[in-house]
Amino acid sequence: MNESTNNKQIAVVGAGIIGINCALELQSRGYQVTLLDKGAIGEGCSKGNAGHFATEQVFPLAETNILLQLPKMLLNPLGPIALSPKYFPKALPWFIKFMANMLQSKRRKNIAALKSINEQAIAYYKPLLKAANAEDIFVENGSLLVFENTPLAKIQKLQQTYLAQGVKVKLLDKNQTLLLEPNLHQNIQYSLYFTDVAHTLNPLSLSQKLAKYAETLGCKIERFDVKNIEHRATKVVISDQRKQLAFDHVVIATGAWSENLLQQLNYKLPIEAERGYSLDLAADANIELNRPVASAERRFIITPMSHGLRLAGTVEFAGLAQKANMKRATMLYKNAKFIVKKLSEEAPEESQGWLGFRPSLPDSLPVICAAPNHKNISFALGHQHLGLTLGAITGKLIGQIVASEQPAIDIAPFCISRFQ
Ligand SMILES: Cc1cc2nc3c(=O)[nH]c(=O)nc-3n(C[C@H](O)[C@H](O)[C@H](O)COP(=O)(O)OP(=O)(O)OC[C@H]3O[C@@H](n4cnc5c(N)ncnc54)[C@H](O)[C@@H]3O)c2cc1C
Repeated sequence: MNESTNNKQIAVVGAGIIGINCALELQSRGYQVTLLDKGAIGEGCSKGNAGHFATEQVFPLAETNILLQLPKMLLNPLGPIALSPKYFPKALPWFIKFMANMLQSKRRKNIAALKSINEQAIAYYKPLLKAANAEDIFVENGSLLVFENTPLAKIQKLQQTYLAQGVKVKLLDKNQTLLLEPNLHQNIQYSLYFTDVAHTLNPLSLSQKLAKYAETLGCKIERFDVKNIEHRATKVVISDQRKQLAFDHVVIATGAWSENLLQQLNYKLPIEAERGYSLDLAADANIELNRPVASAERRFIITPMSHGLRLAGTVEFAGLAQKANMKRATMLYKNAKFIVKKLSEEAPEESQGWLGFRPSLPDSLPVICAAPNHKNISFALGHQHLGLTLGAITGKLIGQIVASEQPAIDIAPFCISRFQ
């Protein structure tokens, strides 16, 4: 502990994988940290995700190709994207900004930013996993992107696109793919093998272990639903209906629920909940996999976890309030039957469905910055499809921001000022 950290009280609001990592880094630096959440640790979007440290995903979602595929995807009841007609007017401004990010000049910048933060994401996790006793749920075995009917030339072109960004990837034919993953279906013709990525066997347990470790270092963890936030002279005051708490600094890491708090501070945040689903299947030797397997055509992923397999994916635009449509979780099973050889005809009754809210911004970049007009507030939110992947590096960057150190990477692309 040094003089500047000594006695400085910091609140991190939001105990998802992002907030937990911020709290852990700040507590390790000697600040007195309180991690607040309206719910239980890691039970937001960080709970049922695909567990993939997907550092290969350096391409933002906004690309012109998607416009051509969109009508077909939306018409397909088993398709990867769904849009609630009732919700469409609310989401329209987000879509307009999303489309603006398809411009080549913007896309190039966004790719460079994603690449810079993804590149070191796994390296930043490793010491934390060791210290938190979580190495047993972290597996470095690569991942596969499998293809059923995409022409080889197109796959080769895709491989070149990844290689051009420095992503390590090998093209495998059918035999090579099945040798790595014998339980995959004969439908699979090719795969791209990302050798340098990893997965966790239990994303919720990972959050819990990291939070527990922060607690052993002295971090306090409390249930608190932050309704209001105010900057008063040297303190930041947060409150629910009953009580007020004052801190020297507050980090907002409230995922898909961030718009309201930022509005109170006069920051515009074009955030959408990209709703995604997962379905957990119990362990069965006939369907075991060794690494995450994503389907390029069906756009979902299957990850081997401690409970068995987790099927995850789909994007649904329907806001935070609409009820879950669990048909989208069972739909994943119908798709999985084309990827894994010995799945039974129907999803076993005990399969567990889950809905999560990805906090997504139209340029696919997170917001990691000091609040431009409030020197005692920082933001760590909007990590879209990559929150698990980017947890540790986000925590590190927030630590550096709060301590006024030079950040490990250029954080200018992640500043909220891009939306003001
Ligand atoms: C189906 C699916 C699969 C995915 N797969 C992957 C993957 O393989 N790899 C990957 O990297 N990412 C994946 N993601 C994305 C990843 O899960 C998210 O990016 C990540 O969980 C976001 O973390 P977070 O901490 O920002 O948000 P959350 O985990 O949602 O945490 C935010 C927390 O803030 C709390 N909160 C909100 N408002 C308040 C308030 N006012 N007061 C107090 N507390 C508040 C919430 O209760 C919540 O606990 C997937 C997502 C989905 C849906």
